[in-house]
Amino acid sequence: MNWEPWTGCYPHSEGCNNCYFYGPNAKRYGQNEIIKTDKFDWPIRKKKNGEYNIKGDKILATCFATDFFLPEADLMRKEVWAMIKERQDIDFLILTKRIERFYESLPEDWGDGYDNVNIGCTVENQKAADERLPLFLSYPIKRRFVACAPLLEAIDLSKYIHGIDHVSVGGETSKDARVCDYQWVLDIRKQCQDAGKTFWFKNTGSIFKKDGQIEKVNPFKQTTYAKELDINISDGKPLF
Ligand code: SF4
Repeated sequence: MNWEPWTGCYPHSEGCNNCYFYGPNAKRYGQNEIIKTDKFDWPIRKKKNGEYNIKGDKILATCFATDFFLPEADLMRKEVWAMIKERQDIDFLILTKRIERFYESLPEDWGDGYDNVNIGCTVENQKAADERLPLFLSYPIKRRFVACAPLLEAIDLSKYIHGIDHVSVGGETSKDARVCDYQWVLDIRKQCQDAGKTFWFKNTGSIFKKDGQIEKVNPFKQTTYAKELDINISDGKPLF
């Protein structure tokens, strides 16, 4: 399940160039102003009988359509941390391209990290990996994943993979999408396999290169196509 407590965003790095939530695409899919959504307090909403609307033992993908560490969300994030703390029975997967804002964005009682928080750092190319992952690994976080998305080139994660629990990879979805080369995906998969990490090939992206051929892939088929290639490495738990 996805939880977007706020909406709106703006570019941070090359991976954002064709983001469909901001700029010219904002009217159709998202919008630029960073504001609460009507699901802002969703994890702690209760029914008339006092039970939470969302039962426990769930995984909530949080801020996958915006950025958790946006400075404009600093006040809202304080409330969100309180909700995350209240729902210890839910695993929150938090995704960001702005991992450098980690310390200034934490709740006071973070300590070594909340048990129910798994933070994901997005890296779209080697430059982003080399800038963000040393920071990411230096922070007190109990569980870490890396999202190589949109994958723009081959990425060598070998210096960092020891500190990462899981890696996901995805191509770019856009009418102006840049190519995602299957060989880059397989390279990252091999790095995960050698290091004993789980791996999820999430989607091919709109322009997918495989066996020397470049094909256009319909947005509704990109996830299924990636799944059919059957290269995921799982530990039996749901991949993300
Ligand atoms: S950080 Fe994510 S949501 Fe924000 S502009 Fe970049 S790609 Fe889009």
